[in-house]
Amino acid sequence: MVENEQLRQELRRCEVELQELRAQPVVPCEGCEHSQESSQLRDKLSQLQLEVAENKGMLSELNLEVQQKTDRLAEVELRLKDCLAEKAQEEERLSRRLRDSHETIASLRAQSPPVKYVIKTVEVESSKTKQALSESQTRNQHLQEQVAMQRQVLKEMEQQLQNSHQLTVQLRAQIAMYEAELERAHGQMLEEMQSLEEDKNRAIEEAFARAQVEMKAVHENLAGVRTNLLTLQPALRTLTNDYNGLKRQVRGFPLLLQEALRSVKAEIGQAIEEVNSNNQELLRKYRRELQLRKKCHNELVRLKGNIRVIARVRPVTKEDGEGPEATNAVTFDPDDDSIIHLLHKGKPVSFELDKVFSPWASQQDVFQEVQALITSCIDGFNVCIFAYGQTGAGKTYTMEGTPENPGINQRALQLLFSEVQEKASDWQYNITVSAAEIYNEVLRDLLGKEPQEKLEIRLCPDGSGQLYVPGLTEFQVQSVDDINKVFEFGYNNRTTEFTNLNEHSSRSHALLIVTVRGVDCSTGLRTTGKLNLVDLAGSERVGKSGAEGNRLREAQHINRSLSALGDVIAALRSRQGHVPFRNSKLTYLLQDSLSGDSKTLMVVQVSPVEKNTSETLYSLRFAERVRSVELGPGSRRTELGSWSSQEHLEWEPACQTPQPTARAHSAPGSGTSSRPGSIRRKLQPSA
Ligand code: ADP
Ligand code: MG
Repeated sequence: MVENEQLRQELRRCEVELQELRAQPVVPCEGCEHSQESSQLRDKLSQLQLEVAENKGMLSELNLEVQQKTDRLAEVELRLKDCLAEKAQEEERLSRRLRDSHETIASLRAQSPPVKYVIKTVEVESSKTKQALSESQTRNQHLQEQVAMQRQVLKEMEQQLQNSHQLTVQLRAQIAMYEAELERAHGQMLEEMQSLEEDKNRAIEEAFARAQVEMKAVHENLAGVRTNLLTLQPALRTLTNDYNGLKRQVRGFPLLLQEALRSVKAEIGQAIEEVNSNNQELLRKYRRELQLRKKCHNELVRLKGNIRVIARVRPVTKEDGEGPEATNAVTFDPDDDSIIHLLHKGKPVSFELDKVFSPWASQQDVFQEVQALITSCIDGFNVCIFAYGQTGAGKTYTMEGTPENPGINQRALQLLFSEVQEKASDWQYNITVSAAEIYNEVLRDLLGKEPQEKLEIRLCPDGSGQLYVPGLTEFQVQSVDDINKVFEFGYNNRTTEFTNLNEHSSRSHALLIVTVRGVDCSTGLRTTGKLNLVDLAGSERVGKSGAEGNRLREAQHINRSLSALGDVIAALRSRQGHVPFRNSKLTYLLQDSLSGDSKTLMVVQVSPVEKNTSETLYSLRFAERVRSVELGPGSRRTELGSWSSQEHLEWEPACQTPQPTARAHSAPGSGTSSRPGSIRRKLQPSA
C-alpha cells in the first residue's frame, strides 16, 4: 500500500510537470529545422501521452483491484476482530460458568450424588467451547493466509507495471528506428518514380513511331486489298455459278456412278473371260512349244551325231617336271576349234574331232558342251560319257573335278536336279545313283556292303531283252548333299580294300550310273533315262618288255576292254548288224546305253608335254577313228579296216604272247591328288 501511494504521488508529479509544459508558450519559428523536429516530438509526445493514458487506465484498474483487495482485507480483519471478541466473550462466559460450576460442584459435593451429573454436563459443555475455539483459530489462520496471498498478488502487479515502463522505452527506440527507415524508403521511391517516368515517356515515343510506320503499311495493304476485291468480285460470281452447276451435277452423280460401275463390271467380266481363253490358248501353245523344243533338242543332238568325240588338253603341270621333256607339243587352230596339232618327233600331225578344248577351257566350258546330252536323259534317252586317255591326262579331273571346281559328274547331277524341279508341276521324277568298278573284267558294286563280291550281268527275266545287275546298290538322291554322301561311302569302301588306290584307279574303269525315272502326272506316261559317266582306265600301252604277272594281266584286260569299246562304237556308227557288246564287261554292261537312240560322248584327254607325245598320238588316232567311222558307208569299211590295226588290239587273245614290258606310264602327276567326294580317288602309295 505504501508503494502504491508512492506511485500515485509520482504520477501526480508527472501530471503537474505536464501541465507546466503545456502552459509554456509555443514559439512558432517557420522554416526552422527545430519546428519540424518539435512537431515530430509533439506527435511522439501525443503518442506517449496516449500510452501514458493507457498505462494510467491500467494503473487505475490495478488501483481498483488493490482497493477491492484492501477492502476485503479490512473486512476480513474486522471479522477476525469480531471473532476474537466473540471468543473472548465466550471464554469469559465459559470461565464464569466453569467457576460457577466449580462452586456448584463444591456445593453439590457437599450435598449428594446428583452433583456428579452436573459436573459431567459442565465437562461436556466445556469441550464444546474448546472445539469452537479451535475452529475460530483455524479460520483466523486461513484469513491470515489469504492476506499473504493478496500481498503476493500486489507484488506481481507492481512487477508488471515496471515491465510496462521498460516496454514503453523499447517501443520509443523502435519508433525512432522505423521513422529513419521510412524516410530512406521515401527517398528511394521518389528516385525510382523519376526513372520510371522517363522510361515511360521513351516507350511511348517509340511505340508511337512504330505505330505510324505500321499504320502506313496497313494503309498500303488496304489499298491493295481494295483493288483485289474489285477484281475478285467477278471471279466470285463465276465461282458461285460453277458451284451451283457442280451441286446440280453431284446430285445426279450416284446414278451416273452406278451406271459406270455396271458398265465397267461388264467390261471387266468380258476382259477376264478373254484373258481366260487367251490363257488356255497360251497354255496350249506352251505345251506345243515344249514338245517342239524337245524335238529340236533331239534333232540338234542327232545333228551333232549320236556319237561324238571331243578332246581336252590339260595344262602343263608342275608334275610334268622341267627340261626338254616337259615342253609343250600341242597347238590349236585359232579359227577352228575342232583342229589340234601335235608335234611328234619333230613331225607335225593334225587331227580333226567334233571339238577340241584347250588347256584354258574351264570345267564349265566343257560341261556346256555335254549339257544337252544330260538333259536328254530326263526325256528318257540313255547317255554314255567316257573319259579316255593315258594316266595323268586329266580323265578324273574332267569327270570328277575338285571340290572347288567339280567336273561333269557333279554338275550333271546338279543340272538334273534343277531341271526336274522346273518340271515338277507336270512330272514326277525319281533319281537314283549306282557306282560300279570293272577291274580285270570283274564287276564290283562300289556302294554295296560287300565290295568284294563279284557281280554278274543278267538278262531281265521279263523277256524284254533288257540287262540288269542283280545286287547292284541303287541310292535315291535328291540333292547334291545326298550325292556327296554316296560318293563318300563309295570312297571309304575302296580305301579299306586297296592299299594303293591311286594305281588301282588308273587300272580300272569307274562307272557312275544315274537313272532318271519320270511319270507325267496328267497322262501317266513313264520314261526312264540312264546317264552313264565312265572314267576309263589309263589307255597307255605297256611296252613289249617289263610287265609281268599281275601288271601284265591288268594291262591285257584294260587293252581288251578299250578295244572292245572301240569296236562297239565303230559297229554302232557304221550301223552294222552285229555289235560285239559281249566282248567286254564294260560294253556288255553299257549295252542298253550304247545302242538304239542312245547318245555317246567320248572325251579324249590329252597331255600336252613332249614326253607324252607318243601316247597322245595314239589317243588322238583312236579318237579320230571313232569319229570318222560314221562319215559314209564307203568309208566305213576302210575305217573299219584301219580300226583293227589300233594299238589296243595288239592285246587281243589272237596275239596273246606279248613280251612282258613296262607300260609307258608317263604321267608324273598321277597319284598325287586326292578328291573328296570322289569315287575314283587317288591316294599316295601307302608305306
Ligand atoms: P587321270 O585321271 O587321267 O589319270 P587326272 O585327272 O588325275 O588324270 O589328272 C592328273 C593331274 O593333272 C591332276 O593333278 C589334275 O589335277 C591335273 N589336271 C588335269 N586336267 C586339268 C585341267 N584341265 N586343269 C588343271 N589341272 C588339270
Ligand atoms: Mg584318273
